[in-house]
Amino acid sequence: MDILYVTSEAAPFCKTGGLADVLGSLPPAVAAGGDRAAVILPLYGQVSDAWREKMRWHGYTYVDLAWRHEYCGLFSLEHRGVVWYFLDNERYFRRGALYGQMDDGERFAFFSKAVVSVLPMLEWRPEVIHCNDWQTALVPIYLKTVAENVSTVFTIHNIEYQGKYGADTVEDLFGLNRGDWYESGVLQMDGCVNLMKGAMVTADAVTTVSPTYAAQLRESAYAAGLDSVVRSIQWKFSGVLNGIDMVSYDPECDPDLPARYTAAESEGKTLCKAALQQELGLAQEEGTPVLSMVTRLVGHKGVDLVCQALDGIMATGCQLVVLGSGDGGYENFFRHAQNRYPGRLCAWIGYNEGLSRRIYAGSDLFLMPSKSEPCGLSQMIAMRYGAVPIVRQTGGLNDTVRSCQVGQPDGNGYVFAAYDAGAMLDTIGQAVGLYHGDAEGFRMVRRRGMEGDFSWDRSAGAYRNIYGKLLGR
Ligand code: ADP
Repeated sequence: MDILYVTSEAAPFCKTGGLADVLGSLPPAVAAGGDRAAVILPLYGQVSDAWREKMRWHGYTYVDLAWRHEYCGLFSLEHRGVVWYFLDNERYFRRGALYGQMDDGERFAFFSKAVVSVLPMLEWRPEVIHCNDWQTALVPIYLKTVAENVSTVFTIHNIEYQGKYGADTVEDLFGLNRGDWYESGVLQMDGCVNLMKGAMVTADAVTTVSPTYAAQLRESAYAAGLDSVVRSIQWKFSGVLNGIDMVSYDPECDPDLPARYTAAESEGKTLCKAALQQELGLAQEEGTPVLSMVTRLVGHKGVDLVCQALDGIMATGCQLVVLGSGDGGYENFFRHAQNRYPGRLCAWIGYNEGLSRRIYAGSDLFLMPSKSEPCGLSQMIAMRYGAVPIVRQTGGLNDTVRSCQVGQPDGNGYVFAAYDAGAMLDTIGQAVGLYHGDAEGFRMVRRRGMEGDFSWDRSAGAYRNIYGKLLGR
């Protein structure tokens, strides 16, 4: 099968979160299974010169979007058995940040239209085009407008971000016929244009990133207004659990770590912890558990529970490390908290890939109290690096973390159900209790996490089944 993935970010070229991890590792896994996998993404200013030097130039075209007529260059490079195509338009993509610009709707409508426009410039024809999140949601729609005979898959990585715009954008911004695409109900949701809804209705198959999240999205509490749409497409909707890149995330050979280790030989982890404490100005105490978070600081990650329970968390005697950026209020809360707990709490506000890896490696416990979590990769990376996860039982956290609390002999972490600061605090208390009270028990939980299979093997097979069904194979 010949599959083209469309995404707004992919590691190692550009990344703001889990989407980049998934699109950086799923296509190589599918290619390893014998199919052709290629990826197409914007050529952001953030893509390094080192990658640019490896690129080949294919040519350019002009993309028409309503009254706009925009240049689009096409480059590609090969990496891990996959061809990565980059669409160049400096006006749209040479910006300070990937998202959060005033004209994101226009930028990603351009990108989606450009993907369809450059298909004739590829030296092959994709049989399936697999789109991801709202930034690529117009691709299945634009494909229909040019009557391309290709199957489409749309994956919801996070339903909170839908791409909603005023009704007048249908023609003026997206260049679509109002009657066909808006009045018909395809793009219309609650009086607005909703790009994610448009893709859910138009794509041949729709997936999300864990079985539990797939079930939750039928409910209004989780679907951010799209539950009725989810219920109406059940026949083509499923949940496929994400994996992580087991090659890139491997404490045995991660070049960002000060020492290497495995599940069986964990001395290097002790060195990583000491180095982390030193790097972040924490007291050099080997026997104090380090509890960490690496997260976007936004509401659905459960950050408000941590704010509410902060003094209680610190009262358990652990050291706390927070690496993240996002809402200014949360950022300031943690900056301030750091001053209140010198040597015991470190808040590193910003994005730092190398530090994130040193935190996973140097931590004993990893906290992820999400209110909703489509899949979550951080908890899997944490387990791989031997940091025992403490998570709320929701979405993909429910599908990847097994509780080791009372009566659960094969647990790999700690789980709490209620979205409640007290429930979270109790659970952190249990984990810290095991750490201090039963070193062997703690080691076993850690080891089960480190030995877990979070690879793409199983899930890449599930996606290949979906592609195969669409192609009648
Ligand atoms: P989401 O995609 O919702 O942000 P995931 O858990 O699926 O959450 O993926 C988060 C990914 O982004 C992980 O690889 C995590 O290590 C990384 N990450 C998140 N915040 C930061 C940060 N501030 N610095 C470095 N890496 C980060």
